[in-house]
Amino acid sequence: MLAKKFEVSINKPWCKGCSLCVHVCPKKVLELNERVKCEAVRQEDCIGCRSCENICPDLAITVREEGTN
Ligand code: SF4
Ligand code: SF4
Repeated sequence: MLAKKFEVSINKPWCKGCSLCVHVCPKKVLELNERVKCEAVRQEDCIGCRSCENICPDLAITVREEGTN
């Protein structure tokens, strides 16, 4: 069976760089870039737990399973 893949989209204009998502992610998928915006640097490691989506105070993150809408 193939492992499920997830796509993490970040609405950068909405991200205020609080880094809550960076710390909550169990797989270290997210990092803040040099502009202090969240970036999915290891998207392939995402297990789709949605902790980042749930913790973001600015609703800047959306996680979806690849191949679905
Ligand atoms: S869904 Fe879970 S594993 Fe994926 S980036 Fe968010 S916190 Fe990390
Ligand atoms: S939790 Fe939301 S606002 Fe905070 S760094 Fe992550 S994406 Fe940006």
